[in-house]
Amino acid sequence: MTQTYDAIVIGAGVMGASIAFHLAERGLKTAILERKVTASGATGHSSGLVRMHYDLAAESELTFKSYQLYFNNWRERVGGDTSTALSASCGFQNTGFLQIARREHEDKLRGNVANQQRLGINTSVISVDEVRKLFPDLVTEHFDHAAYEPDSGYADATLTTNSFIEAAKCNGAVLIQNCEATAVHTSGGKVTGVGTTRDDFSSPIVVNAAGPWAKHVAALAGIDVPLVTWTHDVAFLHRPPALGRIPAVIDDVINCYFRPEGSALILAAGEDESLRGEAPDAEDQTPTPTFVDKLIDAMVQRIPKIEESGLHSIHVGRDGITPDQRAIYSGTDLDGFYLACGLSGTGFKTSPAAGASMAELILDGKPKTVDITPFRFTRFAEGKLIEGEYGYGHIWK
Ligand SMILES: Cc1cc2nc3c(=O)[nH]c(=O)nc-3n(C[C@H](O)[C@H](O)[C@H](O)COP(=O)(O)OP(=O)(O)OC[C@H]3O[C@@H](n4cnc5c(N)ncnc54)[C@H](O)[C@@H]3O)c2cc1C
Repeated sequence: MTQTYDAIVIGAGVMGASIAFHLAERGLKTAILERKVTASGATGHSSGLVRMHYDLAAESELTFKSYQLYFNNWRERVGGDTSTALSASCGFQNTGFLQIARREHEDKLRGNVANQQRLGINTSVISVDEVRKLFPDLVTEHFDHAAYEPDSGYADATLTTNSFIEAAKCNGAVLIQNCEATAVHTSGGKVTGVGTTRDDFSSPIVVNAAGPWAKHVAALAGIDVPLVTWTHDVAFLHRPPALGRIPAVIDDVINCYFRPEGSALILAAGEDESLRGEAPDAEDQTPTPTFVDKLIDAMVQRIPKIEESGLHSIHVGRDGITPDQRAIYSGTDLDGFYLACGLSGTGFKTSPAAGASMAELILDGKPKTVDITPFRFTRFAEGKLIEGEYGYGHIWK
C-alpha cells in the first residue's frame, strides 16, 4: 500500500521532531518515520545542555533563538497536548552556565563573548572572584576568567522531542514507529517518496534527520554525506549532600562538562576519550575503560566535595559527526531531498531554531529564523569547512 504525504521526515530524534512540528504548523500533511521509537538515538542520551557560548556566531544565534522563542517559552510556542503537563514541556531548568577557559584562551573567550553580546545574548566575562561569589563550591584554580550566562541551563531532550511530536500531531502530523526507511524513490532528478519495512510512502519532500544513521539514509538516495559516528560516555554522580548551588559548566581546564541533574545527581562527562567511527547500530553501553577514574579525578579538582560522592550510573550515546564538527542543514542536488544531520554532539540546544529554519528553507526557499546557509551540504565539496571565529580547538566548539 502507498501512503501519500506532503512531507516525510526520516527519524524521530529531536531534529526530525522539530522539523515535523514546523512543517505541520505551516499546514503540510507530515509523516515522521522512525525505525525504532522516538528519541531512541542520540537524543535519548543527550546531556541536554542549553548554553549559548560557541566559537561560531551562527551556532550561538541558533541557540539564542532556540532559548528565546522556545525553551524559555515552551508552553506558549509549542504547547503540545496541554491536557498533560509533561507533554507540553521541554523540562528546561535555568541553572546558569559557566564556560571556564584556559588562561591562554582569554582573548578568544573575550572575542566569542563580544560576538554573542552583539547578538543580544545575556553573557559576560567574569573573574574568578566573581565565580567564587556566585558558586562558592567551585575551586577557582588554574583559570582567571570564565564566560557567564545567567539565562542558560539544561532541558530534557526526550521530553522536548515528544512534546514537539505531540504538538505536530495536533496539526495533523503522523508518527509511524518501528518503520525503517529502506529506499528513497526518485524520478527525473526529484525525490518521490520512501520505501520502508512497512508501507511505501509517496511525497515530494523528504528530510533525512536520521542522526548517526544519516549517512546510510543519504546513500539510499545516492548521496555521500561525510559523517561518522561519535561515541560519548556520560556519568551520573550522586550529589554530595553538602554541595551548594552549581551551574552547568564546560570546563576547558579539566576537560569536562557537568551540570546538576535534578536535586540528587550531577551529570558529568569528558571529551578526550570519545571514539569515532563505531557502527551507529552499536548498542554497547560499556564506557571506555578509564572513563570513570579520569572523570572523577578531574571533577575533584573543580568540586572537592565530589570525593564524598559516588557513581550512580553511566550511559553511552552516539551522534553523527562531520569533518568540521558542524551540522548539515541543507537541500541537495536531488530536488525535494533535504539533510538535517551531522549534529556533531551539540545539536539538541539548537534544534528548535534549526527546525524552524529548515522548514523555511523547504517551504520558502530561504531561511528566516536563522541564516543556516553556512551549514550547507556543498561546503564539503567546495572545501569551505566551517571555522569558528575564536576557536578553542576541541569538541565543544
Ligand atoms: C551522549 C550525548 C550527549 C550530548 N549532549 C548534548 C548537550 O548537552 N547539548 C546539546 O545541545 N547536544 C548534545 N548532544 C547532541 C544532541 O543530543 C544530538 O545532536 C541530537 O540529539 C541529535 O538529534 P537527531 O534527531 O539528529 O538524531 P537522533 O536522536 O539520533 O535521531 C535519529 C533517529 O533516526 C532514526 N533512524 C535512523 N535510521 C532510520 C531509518 N532508516 N528509518 C527511520 N528512522 C531511522 C533513529 O532510530 C533515531 O531515532 C549529545 C549527544 C550525545 C550522544
